[in-house]
Amino acid sequence: MIVVTGATGQFGRQVIEHLLLRGVPAGQVVAAARTPAKAAGLAALGVEVRTADYDRPETLMAAFAGADKVLLVSSTGSDATRIAQHRSAIDAAARSGVGLFAYTSVTRAPTNPMGLARVHRATEQAVADAGLPAVVLRNGWYTENHTAALPGAVARGTLAGSAGDGRIASATRADLAEAAAVVLTLDDQAGKTYDLTGDTAWTLPELAAEAAAQSGTPLGYTDLPAEQYRRILHQAGLPDPAVDLIVDADVQISHGALAHVTGDLTTLLGRPATPLSATVAQSLRA
Ligand code: NDP
Repeated sequence: MIVVTGATGQFGRQVIEHLLLRGVPAGQVVAAARTPAKAAGLAALGVEVRTADYDRPETLMAAFAGADKVLLVSSTGSDATRIAQHRSAIDAAARSGVGLFAYTSVTRAPTNPMGLARVHRATEQAVADAGLPAVVLRNGWYTENHTAALPGAVARGTLAGSAGDGRIASATRADLAEAAAVVLTLDDQAGKTYDLTGDTAWTLPELAAEAAAQSGTPLGYTDLPAEQYRRILHQAGLPDPAVDLIVDADVQISHGALAHVTGDLTTLLGRPATPLSATVAQSLRA
């Protein structure tokens, strides 16, 4: 039986859908959710829904009972909170004796200079310390982190950021979820680490040009000093932690943090990763 946590989130839900598409019987899949009330759509697929709240360790033991494999989808929130939550899940998986523990980390976790990588480094270490049979899915940057802003940018006529000409080898959430489902259906995955990037690395000026071409609307990229970008995001009403994360990510991207391309994603998918142009088209249709 395969248990997927964070199942009501965008990533977890798609992992479950891909497991079913790949022929895993619904009766062999458990959707583990903090908020089971949000999991009606998953229950309709025939999978069992169990409560799994990272802040309530007792729910994790029950959620992982009988699991051959557990996918821990990384949590949201502050660093300290997330590390404690992930440790609770790792502890529950170890005590449940799962045969394979999978964790959604971040690309190049050991050396990734982005602030958000700290949680993933600590979690990978905790997984290793627990001695779990584990596979690490070092997920690349979601393409949607940038394309979600395109409709607004097209309306304003400018895409703003602080990433300069830094290249971004992003992958779509859907491709990464499919890759996770592939790994969960393969044998002999314990001890493996995948670094899952897209096939090509693009820049924010290139993203703006692609959106301009597809929308038929002039759209340029405006590169801003980090402090100015920070003020704009604050004025747009984003909470401080989100602003910190976005600005830090852009600055690190400008220094090349996400420029590397690996072949792991295409190898797992058995096809090319979804190109940027397709995700741009999807965002402009939304
Ligand atoms: P979502 O925000 O859509 O989903 C997050 C999931 O985490 C939800 O199901 C949420 O449950 C669950 N969750 C949050 N807190 C807890 C908790 N205490 N106990 C149990 N579950 C909890 O994010 P995505 O699905 O898109 O992404 C998955 C993860 O990937 C994110 O949580 C984040 O760690 C990471 N991420 C990666 C990015 C990248 O570029 N690679 C970008 C953004 C995030 P509920 O439905 O109840 O809220």
